[in-house]
Amino acid sequence: MTKHDNLIGAEWVSFGNYQDNINPSDISDVIGSYSYGDASSVEAAVEAANGAFPAWRDATPQARHDLLDAVGNTIAARKDEIGRLLSREEGKTLAEGIGETMRASQVFKFFAGEALRQVGDLQSSVRPGIDVEVTREPVGIVGLITPWNFPIAIPAWKIAPALAYGNCVIIKPADLTPGCAHVIAEILHECGCPPGVFNLVMGRGSVVGEALVTHPDINAISFTGSVATGHHIAETCGRLRKKVQLEMGGKNPMVVLNDADLSVAVPACVNGTFFSTGQRCTASSRLIVEAGIHDAFVDEMTKAMQALKVGNALDSATQIGPVVDAKQLNSNLEYVDLARTEAAEVIGGERLELDANGFYQAPALFLGTSNDMRINREEIFGPCGSVLKVADFDEAVAVANDTDFGLSAGICTQSLKHAREFKRQAAAGMVMVNLPTAGVDYHVPFGGRKGSSFGAREQGRYAVEFYTTVKTSYVYAG
Ligand code: NDP
Repeated sequence: MTKHDNLIGAEWVSFGNYQDNINPSDISDVIGSYSYGDASSVEAAVEAANGAFPAWRDATPQARHDLLDAVGNTIAARKDEIGRLLSREEGKTLAEGIGETMRASQVFKFFAGEALRQVGDLQSSVRPGIDVEVTREPVGIVGLITPWNFPIAIPAWKIAPALAYGNCVIIKPADLTPGCAHVIAEILHECGCPPGVFNLVMGRGSVVGEALVTHPDINAISFTGSVATGHHIAETCGRLRKKVQLEMGGKNPMVVLNDADLSVAVPACVNGTFFSTGQRCTASSRLIVEAGIHDAFVDEMTKAMQALKVGNALDSATQIGPVVDAKQLNSNLEYVDLARTEAAEVIGGERLELDANGFYQAPALFLGTSNDMRINREEIFGPCGSVLKVADFDEAVAVANDTDFGLSAGICTQSLKHAREFKRQAAAGMVMVNLPTAGVDYHVPFGGRKGSSFGAREQGRYAVEFYTTVKTSYVYAG
């Protein structure tokens, strides 16, 4: 069994307490054993980051560019091996695992460019003989807390901008998926990241995560995960006056209007609802369908869903991998039961016993549902989608927006008028027309409104807001 340690400064450090990383496709496959730290491990990482910060803050943009570019290149060169690790530890299909790995590479290379492109403002003062400069500086030491569902892309889109803008990083990956973050640490180390600029501390959220959030020398926290944990972190950061950025859940609507092309709408809904086993905060979990196309849509959607092949993530024929662990699977199965209790008609959703001993579930459609049911209010985070029948466009928009969340919203229509109106009215951070609600680019902002997100946007050039602080300088030449 390979043992994996934490990166503190320039050293690989064991804190003992090795935890097995289990493959959800086949629980007899143990990927490795990872040393989990505690509050004293965070203390050691903070000390290393404090020591490294002045030199990294003052490093040339070229030095930061070269490091991030080399990391991006190395991830791309190792995409098959890392993608396979990702699929083994998280359970998404190999194609999705390799795709996500390439996304991480692209993110590092994008921010390699951004490191060179930092700009400020030079403004005239309202007073004579004075110049005003507005510049950006790194925030300091940032704590990154990441979830299990995108175990390489999410760490990448937090680490890369943090380093590009001159911050030092301490990352705590999800308990269930430490492997990909460990590989990023190895690559950063091999590519010459100065000691202490990047630190990896694995461990439980309630221990290591909590220590990051409460440590007085950590200046900012970027978190992706559940609403409950996000709220808890926001409250603590507010009390400590710490900069915070939260990406939380979604209950994303996908509207299908009478004039939709079903050959576009059904694949978009199948992808958005079921791919990555529905374990995406941008998943299309509420399919809001206009009455005139409802029956034809349900018919085709059901057929397409039932044709999906559920199986071992590493099997090339698999389209839907396992659920990430037993706890998430049980939670999904409880929601399937709840759908029946709430009088929905349930198609699929049962636990599957396949050859390998993993956490397999058939994808599920809940028919005849209304928006006040709990299955349509709470994030399920599994391969489950609800169909809600509506009378017209106006009702579709009202139902789409009637949610505590506001991450992504989609519409399938051939009407330019309705597409335009939906873009304007959707109470969401991202809007998709004739596309799944999930699946985004890496060079543009990602994030939502209401209960889905808090703080500055992630990704693209908008990431500069969170990872820098603004300084205004006044210069009187005399
Ligand atoms: P969590 O919010 O508990 O986990 C996200 C990250 O936060 C993990 O690294 C976790 O560590 C860490 N964490 C947990 N508690 C604390 C704490 N007190 N202080 C600091 N960090 C903490 O989500 P779960 O993994 O438990 O998933 C539960 C549900 O959350 C899912 O069913 C889904 O609905 C939602 N979710 C949403 C995601 C999204 O992308 N929006 C992603 C993942 C989950 P550890 O792993 O050790 O617990």
